[in-house]
Amino acid sequence: MDFIDLKAQQRRIRPQLDAAIARVLDHGAYVLGPEVREFEAQLAAFGEARLALSCANGTDAVVLPLMAWGVGPGDAVFCPSFTFAATAEVVPWVQATPVFVDIDPETYNLSPTALEAAVEETLKAGQLTPKAVIAVDLFGQPADYPAISAICRKHGMKLLSDSAQGFGCTLNGHHPLHWADATATSFFPAKPLGCYGDGGAVLTNDQGLWDVMDSLRVHGKGEDKYDNVRIGMNSRLDSLQAAILLEKLKIFPEEIQMRDRVAARYNRLLAPSVQVPAVIAGGTSVWAQYTIETDDRDGLATHLKTQGVPTAAYYPKPLHRQTAYRAFPVAGGALPASDAAGGRVLSLPMHPYLDEATQDRIVEAVRGFNG
Ligand SMILES: *Cc1c(COP(=O)(O)O)cnc(C)c1O
Repeated sequence: MDFIDLKAQQRRIRPQLDAAIARVLDHGAYVLGPEVREFEAQLAAFGEARLALSCANGTDAVVLPLMAWGVGPGDAVFCPSFTFAATAEVVPWVQATPVFVDIDPETYNLSPTALEAAVEETLKAGQLTPKAVIAVDLFGQPADYPAISAICRKHGMKLLSDSAQGFGCTLNGHHPLHWADATATSFFPAKPLGCYGDGGAVLTNDQGLWDVMDSLRVHGKGEDKYDNVRIGMNSRLDSLQAAILLEKLKIFPEEIQMRDRVAARYNRLLAPSVQVPAVIAGGTSVWAQYTIETDDRDGLATHLKTQGVPTAAYYPKPLHRQTAYRAFPVAGGALPASDAAGGRVLSLPMHPYLDEATQDRIVEAVRGFNG
C-alpha cells in the first residue's frame, strides 16, 4: 500500500505523457520553452489569475514575491509555525524576520485572532515593521482569507498565500488569489498538482509584480539576460516539466473531486472513533493530506505500520521549536495550538486513485486500534 500512489495516475495518462515528452525532445528548447508559456497561461486560467509565473520549485515561488516587494531588513513577516520549513525559511533569505503566529486548532491554518494580536504586539515593541503575511493552505484547505486579508489591508501588509499543499482549493467559490496579492505553489511530485521533478509557480493579478519576478528568475535581467538591473537568481521551469504538467492539469479538476470523494468516505467511516478533519465553512480542500487527530498518535502510527498501513505525522516539531528558527519571535510568547497539533495529528494514505477496498482496510486498521 502506498501513502501516495503516483503510478496509478501515470498509468492513466502515460501515452499522453510520452507524446508530450517526445515533443520537447524534438524541438529542444529545454528551459522556458513553448510548453512553459502555454502552461503559465493555462495555470493562470485555472487559478482565476491574470498571470502565472513558473519557477524552479515551490520554495522559490514563496521567496520571489517577497523579493519583488522589497521585503528586507527590519521587516516582520507573519507566518504559521505549524507548516513545512520552506514557508518561513525564505524570510531570513531576504534579511527580514519571521514572526510565528498560532493556528486555529480546528483547521490548522493561521488564526486571524492570533494574527491581529501578533501585529499589535509587533507595533507596540517598535523593533520591526509589519510588512507581509504568509498564510498557508495546510493539508489542502484554504486559510481564513476574508479575515486575514482584512487585517492585511488595515495594517498595509502584503498577503501571500503559500498554497503548495492547497493549490486548487477554494473558499466561497474563489481561489486564494481572490484575497491574496500573490499565490505560491509547488509541483513537487507528491503535491496535489505535481510534476516529475522540482517546479513551482506564482499566480498574481499584478503585471508589475510579474515583470519584476520574471526579471528575478533570470538573474535580474533587464532588456535581455546580459543586461542585469537587479540581483536575481536562476529559477526557471524546465519545458519537460511544463509538458508533463499540461497533461496533468487537464485531469486535475476531476482528481480534486476524486480526492474529495475519498475524504468524504473516510469521514463517514472513521468518525467518531478518531477526530476527522474539519474544513472551514464555505471551503473546499484538495486533500494534500487526510489528517486525523487522536490522543495516542504515536501508538496509532505504530499499530497501523504493523497492519501494513503507511502514515505520516506532520509536523511533530513546529518551526518555532526547531534549532534553526528558535531565535525568531513567537507571537504571544507561546503557540499552544501549534504544539498540541504537532503531538496529535496523523495523516493517512490519500490520493485520487485510492480504491474503496484499500480504504476499508485502512479504516478497519484504525478502528482496530481504538478497540
Ligand atoms: C512543499 C511546500 C513548499 C515548498 O515546495 P518545494 O517545491 O518543495 O520547494 C512550501 N510550502 C509548503 C507549505 C509546502 O508544503
